[in-house]
Amino acid sequence: MGLFSLYMAWGESFRLIFLSPDAAFDLAFVQRIYGCDGFACLTGPLPAGMAAYLLHALEKHNPLRRDNSTGLPLVKKLRQFCLRQMTSLPYPLQNASLPSEIIISKPDPSCETIAVDELDEVEAILTGRLLSLGEIGRILRLGNESGRKHLSMVLQALCLTGRAALLPAVVPLKGSLVRCQRCGWEGIPRLKPCKGCGSQACCMCPDCLIMGGLSLCEALYTAPVPSGEAGETTGMPGRSRWRHWVERFLSVWPEGETGDKDVVCSPIMSGEANPARWLAGKAAVGATPAESEGEAGLATGKYHLDINFTPPQEAAVQALLRFGEREAPGGTCLVWAACGAGKTEVSFPLIGQVLGRGERVLYATPRRDVVLEIAPRLGKAFGSKRVVALYGGCGNQGKDAPLVAATTHQVLRFYRSFDLVILDEGDAYPYPGSRMLHFGVKKALRPGGKLVYLTATPAGWMFEQNKAKLVDIIKIPARPHGFPLPEPRFLKVTPLQKAGHGWVLHQAILDLIGTILERDGGQIFIFVPAVDLTRVVGEALRSAVGKPPFEGFRPDWIQWSHAGDRERDRKRESFFKGEFPVFVTTTIMERGVTVPRVHVLVLEADQAAVFDRATLVQMAGRCGRSPDYPTGQVWFIARSISREMEEALHEIRSLNKEAFQAGFLLDDYDAKLKEILSKGWQKNGIALGTG
Ligand SMILES: [Zn+2]
Ligand SMILES: [Zn+2]
Repeated sequence: MGLFSLYMAWGESFRLIFLSPDAAFDLAFVQRIYGCDGFACLTGPLPAGMAAYLLHALEKHNPLRRDNSTGLPLVKKLRQFCLRQMTSLPYPLQNASLPSEIIISKPDPSCETIAVDELDEVEAILTGRLLSLGEIGRILRLGNESGRKHLSMVLQALCLTGRAALLPAVVPLKGSLVRCQRCGWEGIPRLKPCKGCGSQACCMCPDCLIMGGLSLCEALYTAPVPSGEAGETTGMPGRSRWRHWVERFLSVWPEGETGDKDVVCSPIMSGEANPARWLAGKAAVGATPAESEGEAGLATGKYHLDINFTPPQEAAVQALLRFGEREAPGGTCLVWAACGAGKTEVSFPLIGQVLGRGERVLYATPRRDVVLEIAPRLGKAFGSKRVVALYGGCGNQGKDAPLVAATTHQVLRFYRSFDLVILDEGDAYPYPGSRMLHFGVKKALRPGGKLVYLTATPAGWMFEQNKAKLVDIIKIPARPHGFPLPEPRFLKVTPLQKAGHGWVLHQAILDLIGTILERDGGQIFIFVPAVDLTRVVGEALRSAVGKPPFEGFRPDWIQWSHAGDRERDRKRESFFKGEFPVFVTTTIMERGVTVPRVHVLVLEADQAAVFDRATLVQMAGRCGRSPDYPTGQVWFIARSISREMEEALHEIRSLNKEAFQAGFLLDDYDAKLKEILSKGWQKNGIALGTG
């Protein structure tokens, strides 16, 4: 298992070259569907990557077109060609010698055991996906080796009839350089012994190990998404139907597409093969999977979304709909929304437009909690049957729907599947540095599909793409309540000073906290750049309790937490409920958190390695989200002022300016803010003070 031989089969009017994990099966299958006269292996068993390399070399060299010979004379020439190619392969092959016997007389009878509905079931699983044998086996719950062997025959039958294609997981490029076709990693791998192929010099992609390792000897499988055109799914009997499949397949994966480096293997055919014998059984089945799914789940039409958009949101909705209607294939659009301005639902009308055309949509996000939160909302808007949520360990891997919400890792298991991809918080960890996830999102798009980024803090590369006119930017500069974003202020002091065995906070910071709690009330997020600083700052604050300005305070009003804290969720909940006023934390609380009456202090804000522009904007964005208290204080505190601090301030200011100029802010927001602040602090349930 796991190794592939190249072979040639021929009949009166056709020649076919392909690769197979079990040539005897292919012999039987080809005999059955094409009625072949001869069959010969061109190579011994090779890792999928190598076999694909040779198949492509044969395709490029195109011996079938140039050579009119057939049968054994041609086999001889092709074997010599393969042998020459193999000696130039970068990786030592265990089984480089050619098989001496030509297989012709021993077809594998297991071919007869493949049922038509089995082919349909596996094809449905593969549609728009990119899955290894092991992953397909898990979806089908195949427990044993014989089940997997049978599955590999089913996959081979799908490839031979043009209903699926094989992509070697890892392909050799040049010299020792390889590329992983799942995650896009390119590099020189470490060679190691492999159980899968028995080779001493196999290799694995190091980048997507977390999703189950992929080796040079392994293959991935995919089937094209039906284009939804009329007539596409009607059963066509006989040869025209077979032609139809192959042609559809080829039109989905046109050869030599610019910039397309994927190595996709399907049979090299010449002449006219007549698959009538096979299709006599097949045609009776009629409908393809796409048709049987064509009930309510895939119905097209208009969606009535019950969402009240604010004027800035409505402007973005219309711009996105125009983007979606654009005839030109492809295109990328960036929705840049101020923190708390409501970017998610802005994409819903566009999603509805695309679903209404019977097309497929992916809502991708690096964060699992966002998938969990968005899936029910999408279900409510578009019908829960049309939505499937995918994240690590969700158990939904085999399910499909026209609208998929998935973490970016799950996205790597899709292939040319979606007409629209929405990438939410594409700048959030672990996305920006992650070439893998960028690659995954591009790979999940169908050729000509459209991509939308939703973000509050566009990454630098997004602006660069905008400058290069590769990305359109749509802004939502104002929050629904119509008040401007709180602008950060800088406090230039050294936040922590050594005192005896411990640390103390600069008096200016203590005074600031005291004043905020006394006068403005509410709660304070204190962000620090390192995990151990949460405790240091928390303890320094507690040691100040009882002294001015913390006279009336209690030590348990100050809590701290970080990603590794087992109490983290409980403390967060408690802070949200307003049970204590001061919470010291790392950037784990940076996104997706709304506390009604919160102020933000960032200590050592000049630590640019942690607090980059986007992070600073996100932390400031925790403030003033509630319509009851649409403001708050944001302080960046450090001994120096970093470029990132300046940039964050500039970004927030420019959004406010834009919101003002567009008329998205309340006319009298200044007076209203004064009124809100003059009311002072109504306790909000926090048991502050002694009274
Ligand atoms: Zn990989
Ligand atoms: Zn291997």
